[in-house]
Amino acid sequence: MAPWQDAWQRIRARLRGEFGDAAFDSWLKPLSLLRAESNKVLIAVPTRFMCDWVKTHYLGRIADYWRQETGAAIDVELVVNVQASQPAPAVATPVPVKSARPRQGGDNNGEEIDAPVESYGAPLDPRFTFDSFVVGKSNELAHAAARRVACNAKVQFNPLFLYGGVGLGKTHLMHAIAAEIKARTPERRVLYLSAEKFMYQFIRAIRFQDTMAFKEQFRSVDVLMIDDVQFIAHKDATQEEFFHTFNAVVDHNRQVIISADRSPSDLEGIEDRIKSRLGWGLVADIHPTDYELRLGILQSKLEMIGRIDMPNEVTEFLARKIVSNVRELEGALNRVTAYSDLVGRPVTLEMAQEVLQDLIRSNDRRVSISEIQRHVAEYFNVRLSDLLSARRARAVARPRQVAMYLSKQLTSRSLPEIGRKFGGRDHTTVMHAVRRIEELRETDSGLDQDIENLRRTLEN
Ligand code: ADP
Ligand code: MG
Repeated sequence: MAPWQDAWQRIRARLRGEFGDAAFDSWLKPLSLLRAESNKVLIAVPTRFMCDWVKTHYLGRIADYWRQETGAAIDVELVVNVQASQPAPAVATPVPVKSARPRQGGDNNGEEIDAPVESYGAPLDPRFTFDSFVVGKSNELAHAAARRVACNAKVQFNPLFLYGGVGLGKTHLMHAIAAEIKARTPERRVLYLSAEKFMYQFIRAIRFQDTMAFKEQFRSVDVLMIDDVQFIAHKDATQEEFFHTFNAVVDHNRQVIISADRSPSDLEGIEDRIKSRLGWGLVADIHPTDYELRLGILQSKLEMIGRIDMPNEVTEFLARKIVSNVRELEGALNRVTAYSDLVGRPVTLEMAQEVLQDLIRSNDRRVSISEIQRHVAEYFNVRLSDLLSARRARAVARPRQVAMYLSKQLTSRSLPEIGRKFGGRDHTTVMHAVRRIEELRETDSGLDQDIENLRRTLEN
């Protein structure tokens, strides 16, 4: 299979080159090579909807590339295989595949080495502005700090360090700052690039013995923005250069803005002096979204694409189910609208559920035992400490059994692990509780309903 896998990797690279990052990440990245025979390859697709989409839009090219790569007449067959690829892709706008958004930091493979040498910076995505950024509790600090830096030519804190998990809006805010500064004060020189691109520029400069020009570029800017700085972890020479560049810019009292996926002190593989220096200005974090923010983002996107006819139950369903990050939320929305366009029917809840099966599965929340204990105690109005104690009074013993039962049902913990979480009980006690509740559910409809209620709140 190895030569086939190699060919498949090359084909994937060519598909990315041809269709662009956004379309590739949405539709092609989730495909995996399942089996290869002398004149036939089987490619797995995670959902039926994606399978239809890939078939109509990309199958022809995929087959062409297989023929070119192997020099043989190869049939390509797509099969729906939910196990094939997870987690589900982040889907970007699927339709205008050729005009994919400009490349951003983080997901390129080093092609930048061949980019023209004048372009030290990276292009800005015109959609990433303050206007299109929806503010909620989880991002208000980062947003306020970003606005302050963008609207105020005086350097107040240096650097501004934005951090948060993937897909939560760091790059969006960075681009928004850059666009705002350029609009307000076109004479100020703003340089935005990913840490990855910084590294490739640096390597290239060394290779072409051009480090003077490289240093010059960075040291003559008014605002230096470096996205995803975690990328330079364990890359010592690049870190060294980054540190000097950073210091030179800050020493000239020019603004530096950095983003990363974690706080300065948590950046592993980065030298201590750099970590400490990164934390000197203002450090603002972006937390995972909450339900209201997700709903707000969906509404704003729907207005932007002119789809305000989307039923509320669908947007609420998306906001409730796609909790991982905003990129995936947008992807889910795009997938649903693309599907409705494709089949020419209005969006319904059933359609959304069908089209997003894989995403929903990967977003299913993991419930913890302590959450279960807390909810059960509250529901039956007993104290949490009693639930975990050795008390055998019926009023606490039954809720305790329910909590053990739910822990078995809703988590992947073993019986001994569950026992330990319940005040160090033996696994046989847990087993007994699980059996007892199973029996009672058959005969006691009140208890059965209680457990259903609990399960529903815990899983939402
Ligand atoms: P990160 O850089 O943190 O991984 P991005 O900035 O690339 O994330 O955001 C991912 C996607 O989610 C982008 O399309 C962005 O526009 C969108 N997004 C993130 N946060 C928000 C928000 N608060 N309002 C509107 N769109 C958002
Ligand atoms: Mg980013």
